[in-house]
Amino acid sequence: MKYQHIQRIFTSPFYLNFRKHYCPDCNIELNKIEVSKIVNSSSPEAKNFDFHTFENYMIGNVKFIWTELQCDKCRRTISISEMKRIENEQKNNHEK
Ligand SMILES: [Zn+2]
Repeated sequence: MKYQHIQRIFTSPFYLNFRKHYCPDCNIELNKIEVSKIVNSSSPEAKNFDFHTFENYMIGNVKFIWTELQCDKCRRTISISEMKRIENEQKNNHEK
């Protein structure tokens, strides 16, 4: 699919770059990987993405690029929000 814009999503850069994250299954350190998806501004999916730029609104196909975490061993890919949820659960389990 062709696209007219590229938009990089920076979710929690501090969380990603200054803390280590581990696979909940293998317990080894996760790698950062780049994930991308082309979303059309008039598609139903568009509501899940932010089409606003500094002073504009993107129309048409936009390629969104963001970072997720991946395990070398089991190849599991974990999004940042999922990773936070997993780490919260682990923390709660330790406190019990
Ligand atoms: Zn793993």
